[in-house]
Amino acid sequence: TRIKGDYKYEIGDLATTLNYMADEIIRSNQIKDDFISSISHELRTPLTSIKGWSETLISGGYDPEETKLGMGIISKESDRLIGLVEEILDFSKLQQNEMKLSIALIDIKVVLQETILNVWAKAEKKRIHLLLECEGTIYIKGDANRLKQVFLNLVDNAVKFSPEDSSIVLSTHRLSKEEMAVIVRDSGIGISEAHLSRVRDRFFQVDALNGGTGLGLAISQQIVELHHGKLELDSELGKGTQVTVILPLTEEQPPVAAEGGNGP
Ligand code: ADP
Repeated sequence: TRIKGDYKYEIGDLATTLNYMADEIIRSNQIKDDFISSISHELRTPLTSIKGWSETLISGGYDPEETKLGMGIISKESDRLIGLVEEILDFSKLQQNEMKLSIALIDIKVVLQETILNVWAKAEKKRIHLLLECEGTIYIKGDANRLKQVFLNLVDNAVKFSPEDSSIVLSTHRLSKEEMAVIVRDSGIGISEAHLSRVRDRFFQVDALNGGTGLGLAISQQIVELHHGKLELDSELGKGTQVTVILPLTEEQPPVAAEGGNGP
């Protein structure tokens, strides 16, 4: 009877595990279904606009000004499509552990300056000030393009969720001998406590109507982790959001440029 009892226990346990696994499969399928429907919508919007404008221009009879406007929209919407497809490809690369970093010694300030240049026009449209506060020069070992992608995503979100005439501050900090931090701070709509733990989940968006894929923060966090760093989020609804990217410091310094021309 004792053996029978054990079996009963084991079978009960097994049933619980299988039920749990089935729930997980249903949940992950649901996430994928939601993703496919939201991504299809995201891809369709720029495609509809490209199709509409190209047909209009083919039909002819437009003055140079109108033609230029149409071409400009086609080009902008194509960029948006390329961005979306790249995001999906990066995500799938990360999922399969296939993103390779190209590591070099980099000045983090230069990466942040380039990030700011890239989002400047978008911020300008909302008269948002982008400020950079750097604690001296900090070198780290990392992939400059991939880190720029992370900061671009963070600042892009900050611009998207900030009101007109506000400021976004990017700053660097030496935390210890081993670590430094880049902080991106906005005074936008913020994220509620209930949503804060979920915004880094893949495909998660507080409001699907805001556009985007819900992949940005998931990708950013994984790129930071590939650099042996951490991405932390603090936010208060109605007050703003602060994203902290913690990265390991290196003792390596760039070679000092040789002085005095061609040597002895
Ligand atoms: P998306 O591509 O949709 O922006 P993200 O992963 O970058 O995806 O962000 C997920 C969600 O987190 C956003 O849809 C938004 O609801 C919220 N979020 C991200 N950054 C901010 C921010 N700075 N302020 C307010 N909400 C934010």
